[in-house]
Amino acid sequence: MAEGVYDVIVIGSGVMGSSTAYSLAKKGKKTLILEQFPVLHSRGSSHGLSRITRLAYGVQHYTDKMVDAFKMLAELERETGTELLINCGTLSIGPENDEFLRDVEKALTNVGAAVDVLTHEQLRRRYPMLSYPHNYVGLLDHKGGLLKADCILRALQTVFRQRGGEIRDCEPVTAIHPGSTVTVTTSKGTYRAASVVVAVGSWADKMLRPLGLSLPVKIQRVTVCYCKELHPGSHSAQQLPCFIEHSGSPPYDIWGLPSYEYPGYAKIALHTGPEISPDTRDQPDGKWVTDRVTAYVKEHFPGLESTPSITEQCIYTMTPDEDFIIDYHPQHHNIIVAAGFSGHGFKLAPVVGEAVSDMATGRVPKYDMKPFMITRFKTEASQ
Ligand SMILES: Cc1cc2nc3c(=O)[nH]c(=O)nc-3n(C[C@H](O)[C@H](O)[C@H](O)COP(=O)(O)OP(=O)(O)OC[C@H]3O[C@@H](n4cnc5c(N)ncnc54)[C@H](O)[C@@H]3O)c2cc1C
Repeated sequence: MAEGVYDVIVIGSGVMGSSTAYSLAKKGKKTLILEQFPVLHSRGSSHGLSRITRLAYGVQHYTDKMVDAFKMLAELERETGTELLINCGTLSIGPENDEFLRDVEKALTNVGAAVDVLTHEQLRRRYPMLSYPHNYVGLLDHKGGLLKADCILRALQTVFRQRGGEIRDCEPVTAIHPGSTVTVTTSKGTYRAASVVVAVGSWADKMLRPLGLSLPVKIQRVTVCYCKELHPGSHSAQQLPCFIEHSGSPPYDIWGLPSYEYPGYAKIALHTGPEISPDTRDQPDGKWVTDRVTAYVKEHFPGLESTPSITEQCIYTMTPDEDFIIDYHPQHHNIIVAAGFSGHGFKLAPVVGEAVSDMATGRVPKYDMKPFMITRFKTEASQ
């Protein structure tokens, strides 16, 4: 039976657990990652080759944090000698006077970011592959682009291991026993640590309930669609930035990336999906999602086949306000929860990892963590 004593045990090897463990190892902390599946699996939220990154948030504190996230990503690139970002820009699209676009422009201006405000005519000329109504405008965030997601996970775990970190995969955690030293039981053994980070994505509520904490999260299955270019090479990262529309009708958010993951196919998805349990995610429902993507592509991307050629599944863990949950367990302050990343966490993982590693080692994070506190919800343990 495996046994061990650590400064910190991180449960979950997704981008949040890996980023936290990376920061802990760089701080010289003896750290263990426990993961239920083989590392780099595709059963959670962090798999795949690409994610969107952007400074362009409609909420200032996220844009402020993204300034650091970009710097930390560049450091990881230097450390591993790997390119982790394709800087193709991120385009926010919406009607004139759209509140989201106004807030994004303000947040970008406040951090001195390079942004192009595009009229409908400029949008049409610069991106002839897009077709939006006459009242539509665009905001191009030059700093944004495509994150090489799988490379980032691998890079974080490589540096973690180089710094002495230990990863035990195929080893689900079955119980957490609180105390001044926390004991963690898995399918294979028992481990102890001064503090534990619970970064288990969609499984957070299930893991925390036995500790008297219920999180108000909704688990959604997101279907990612890949639509074929009619003219090969027309939607590559040289021509098309990543894009986001927050004001579709009927109301839904939609996002997409240039052709990269499957060359010749642009990646497009609806920012929602049917509610599922992470353990029964493969039930065949949710055709309405691909129908909506098909309708959207037909209307706005005349250079793509509207019916997706390839579809893939991923999981969102949504909070009611779509802000993250990063906090100490209300009763057990050496158990830290990092969950509820609401479909937009990947780009912020370096900052989350740095903040959570501080929290797990008795330091106060330098970031504004108030928006992420558990007590903003009426959870069982916080009432
Ligand atoms: C389709 C899709 C597109 C997205 N696009 C973007 C984007 O463009 N930009 C962006 O910033 N964000 C994006 N996101 C969001 C981002 O990917 C997630 O916020 C992020 O990956 C969440 O990471 P996580 O580590 O919290 O969860 P996960 O990656 O799910 O990791 C949790 C880990 O915990 C493990 N675990 C669970 N239970 C146990 C247990 N009992 N014992 C041991 N291990 C356990 C799981 O196996 C898993 O490996 C997207 C998400 C999806 C699904």
